[in-house]
Amino acid sequence: MMMPPPAPLALMLDAEALKANWRWLSEQSGDADCGAAVKADGYGLGAAEVVHHLRAAGCRHFFVATWAEALSIHPHIGDAELSVLHGVREEDMPVALSLGARPVLNTPDQIARWREAGGGACDVMIDTGMNRLGLDPNTITRDLFAGLEVEVAMSHLACADEDHPLNMVQPMIFGQLARKVGAKRLSLANSAGILLGEGFRFQLTRPGLSVYGGVPRAEAAGHIRPVVRPRAQILQRRTIRGGESVGYGATWVANRQREAAILNIGYADGYLRGFSDKGIALADDGTRLPVIGRVSMDLLVVDVTDLPSLGEGDWLELAYDLAEASSLSGISQYELLTGLGSRFERHWI
Ligand SMILES: *Cc1c(COP(=O)(O)O)cnc(C)c1O
Repeated sequence: MMMPPPAPLALMLDAEALKANWRWLSEQSGDADCGAAVKADGYGLGAAEVVHHLRAAGCRHFFVATWAEALSIHPHIGDAELSVLHGVREEDMPVALSLGARPVLNTPDQIARWREAGGGACDVMIDTGMNRLGLDPNTITRDLFAGLEVEVAMSHLACADEDHPLNMVQPMIFGQLARKVGAKRLSLANSAGILLGEGFRFQLTRPGLSVYGGVPRAEAAGHIRPVVRPRAQILQRRTIRGGESVGYGATWVANRQREAAILNIGYADGYLRGFSDKGIALADDGTRLPVIGRVSMDLLVVDVTDLPSLGEGDWLELAYDLAEASSLSGISQYELLTGLGSRFERHWI
């Protein structure tokens, strides 16, 4: 079989920054243990490598969404704990019973299924106002959990990245309901929740976004380092004469003669259309180059008039500081990460 040539686009992934971010979040978690959410393939970075680096930093508790995700990272977790947030369906049971990861039980049916199968240790999710996944507080009685070995009872904050009245209500309700579960440990805070203060940390925290460089609240600014740097290769350099346009819809028109580089990256790679006429590319010397015209599926056009030496085969970085790129593009920091596609070569440095 023929080997594919090196890809014309790459993600540079900073393992030291990833570990430093987790260590900072772990410090901010105070006496609570700090885990890490590695669902959605480690927020798009590659879950196996993320787990490897975070274990080296000391992380001993990982969270995924599905049993397929659990199965694929299980060989990498060593002695760490693994919780599967979406619970356990009938069709998950063969994998769930053999893997040694814990389902996070979200409904009375899931609880009954796990108890009847003698599944062993499990976690429980309680809904405290988000009305997403988790047990409805009205269904919670001590009897519901009889005979279950609940390791962690958790709930999830709806508005931790804002200052919102729900932030005061949720930990209170959680504290009251959790007593009925008889869990060994309690867990409420995601990345933003950790920064809300001691009353949110309980015994285990579950950061995701900030491990990967996201800044969900001002308190994290200056402490969280960028982890992901997308790079793309120049496929062509061309001259655009005054009055000519660039790209679909001809949204950008040259007011005088300009030079453009055509990059091998587009919205199918997760560099989404919110960057059209707004994104910034960075040359190796730090020069900032504007994205011009609409982002295409596989291609991007950048104004390189200022850098006459750049040509076919050279590489440019796309500015991807998550907080900045999010406010520029209107795309959430979460989407900026989890959309990063499979055509990138991922390089851990
Ligand atoms: C994704 C997720 C997290 C991590 O949240 P971040 O905002 O990325 O820190 C924590 N807990 C649950 C239940 C989640 O679904």
